[in-house]
Amino acid sequence: MAQHPNLIGGEWRTGESFPNINPSNLNDVIGEYARATIADCRDAITAARGAAKDWGLTPPQVRADLLYKVSAAIEAESARLADLLAREEGKTLREASGEVVRAMNIFRFYAGEALRGPGERYDSSRPGIEIQVTREPVGVVGLITPWNFPIGIPAWKIAPALAWGNTVVFKPADLVPGCAWELARIIHEAGIPPGVFNLVMGRGTDVGAEIIHNPGVDAVSFTGSVETGAKVLQGAALRGAKVQMEMGGKNPLVVLADADIDRAVQVALDGAYFGTGQRCTASSRLIIEDAIHDKFVTCLIEALSAQIVDDARKPGTTIGPVVDERQFEQDLRYIEIGRGEAHLAWGGQPLKRATRGFFLQPALFTEARNDMVIAKEEIFGPIAAVIRVKDYDEALAVANDTRFGLSAGICTTSLKYAQHFRRHANAGMVMVNCPTAGVDYHTAFGGRKASSYGSREQGPYAVEFYTTVKTAYQAM
Ligand code: NAD
Repeated sequence: MAQHPNLIGGEWRTGESFPNINPSNLNDVIGEYARATIADCRDAITAARGAAKDWGLTPPQVRADLLYKVSAAIEAESARLADLLAREEGKTLREASGEVVRAMNIFRFYAGEALRGPGERYDSSRPGIEIQVTREPVGVVGLITPWNFPIGIPAWKIAPALAWGNTVVFKPADLVPGCAWELARIIHEAGIPPGVFNLVMGRGTDVGAEIIHNPGVDAVSFTGSVETGAKVLQGAALRGAKVQMEMGGKNPLVVLADADIDRAVQVALDGAYFGTGQRCTASSRLIIEDAIHDKFVTCLIEALSAQIVDDARKPGTTIGPVVDERQFEQDLRYIEIGRGEAHLAWGGQPLKRATRGFFLQPALFTEARNDMVIAKEEIFGPIAAVIRVKDYDEALAVANDTRFGLSAGICTTSLKYAQHFRRHANAGMVMVNCPTAGVDYHTAFGGRKASSYGSREQGPYAVEFYTTVKTAYQAM
């Protein structure tokens, strides 16, 4: 069985290992991955501290060249990486390929950003003085990522961190160490100096907690659940570290009576069910205007009936398995709760396939109300609830009536309602006639309320988190 060690201070370090299991086939062990200890994590932080000064002072061309090399290597290995991603996380090969291309583009984008080096110059209000506002690296950044985007989310944290001169301690989710390890290997092979980038594949409760509490970590970027996010905030912010967090969602998709029905159904299907519904931006609340409600539900059920739930790597599969047993049990629990609250209009059954895996028929609830558990809590599975509303005003009120605020969508052919929704939806991202999930890599990503904390990720906006501003005054 292939062994995959941690990367600490430029050295590969073995240790006790854990298996990476394919959710489409529980007999398929992808490999063994070294489980980092707290001591390993401390060594990684020390190595990152030791490397921070020199890396922060490297000419931007050095950082740009390195990121570009990483991007080229991802491109060269893209087919193998996509296969590994589908095998360890369970999203379809098509979805996995898209995520790998995204990771490649992210490294390429930040290679350019490294060279742009943001800064401003002002004349002082006092005579004979010049002011320069520059950005410097924050120092050592701890990156903690979830399992649902095994290469995309690591890429969108690691690339800007390195581009702007920070050193990195990266802890991926335990469920998907495969893509994280391959990315670390690629970064190592690209020639990154020892200690600048460290990989610690360990448990959240010890290695993750060490990153949060260790004073050697200057900034923590976290993506995961609201519950874990609260611990990150308590630990890191209290000791004065910079914190950025992206968390859960309960994203609304409004469909108005004037919507193009085919488009609305495709947008709902993609947003709610693709990626097995395991996306923070998934449209789990479908808010449908009364006049189009019945037709929409009929068409969505027809579309759901045509989906093929099977092995993620099998050609033809449109929805892969649920990621693991814990999430599978959670999905079934919510389906049970939903049966008691609303009407299960379609699906929700565990499915048997040629291999033993966590296959679940996508579920659609109708007659749901916004105050029900299935409409309030993030389920993180292929499950959506239809809420019937009388008009646009009620739809907007229901859409905004949630503790989350990541993404919000509307399907309409009315310019008036599209514009009004874009302005008044209380979410970090708004989609008109396109799925709530599915975002670009070169612009701001993030939410409001319980979904996010701190500055935006991705695109040039990431500079806010990965740099610190210096204002210098000089008498001429
Ligand atoms: P999670 O919170 O369980 O774990 C996220 C990461 O935190 C993992 O690496 C985990 O090991 C680590 N962790 C766990 N306990 C920790 C602790 N006490 N201290 C430090 N680290 C700890 O989340 P998950 O189940 O991996 O991912 C699903 C969640 O992520 C969902 O809520 C989803 O909405 C969210 N998510 C959000 C976004 C976004 O950008 N908003 C993107 C993807 C996923």
